[in-house]
Amino acid sequence: CGIVGYIGPRHVKDVVIGGLRKLEYRGYDSAGIATLSNGQISVVKAVGRLGNLEDKLLTEAVEGELGIGHTRWATHGRPSDENAHPHQDCSGKFAIVHNGIVENYVQIREELLAKGHRFQSETDTEVIAHLMEELYNGDFAGTVLAVTQRIRGAYALVVMAKDDPDTLIAVRKASPLIVGLGEGENFIASDIPAILEYTRDVYVLDDGEMAIVRRDGMTCYPLDGATTVAELHPVEKEV
Ligand code: GLU
Repeated sequence: CGIVGYIGPRHVKDVVIGGLRKLEYRGYDSAGIATLSNGQISVVKAVGRLGNLEDKLLTEAVEGELGIGHTRWATHGRPSDENAHPHQDCSGKFAIVHNGIVENYVQIREELLAKGHRFQSETDTEVIAHLMEELYNGDFAGTVLAVTQRIRGAYALVVMAKDDPDTLIAVRKASPLIVGLGEGENFIASDIPAILEYTRDVYVLDDGEMAIVRRDGMTCYPLDGATTVAELHPVEKEV
């Protein structure tokens, strides 16, 4: 339902939770945050109000170089701590947040279970995290691209990787997503109010577009049915 991502020098937790708060009006049943610090991803999630998540965060160390957060409006799997986003793969290499529905998740889940993946939630979303792990070939953006070729349905997706402390990758397909540009910091959100406090330079991702967001800038690529990263061509952004 609500997505916020941040990469930069501010307190990641404050930016992410503050942003989610601005999206509360959309409604949600649970919330969560993932941060990356010293090559380790930490995830904290709580069913119910954002305040429940904030209470948990009082006792958990979740600072870092970047982070993603989500308020969930359940479509597949009841509202619970486990079903809240972010979701991770088995090895904890990736964390993802997702708005929308992965229509072919049952089939992908069966396939991944047969390959030995173990699932923590009942959501459609979790297959995305495990697909990242399954298809990972050392190239973060290439793997996100490969994942988008496997999943059907609507999504706004933001992925972080433990091995890449300078990158968040966002993809939009039939579900809104924006990037807010700052100085030495950048923001991702499902809607503008989440980041208005920090920047007015907002780029609205086009449908079928992937944004590679780093501390010092962003590059956008229309996916256009590309099957490899070599086939992707950046577009000039207009903010
Ligand atoms: N389908 C996903 C879930 O049930 C995402 C829901 C949402 O857009 O918040 O977890």
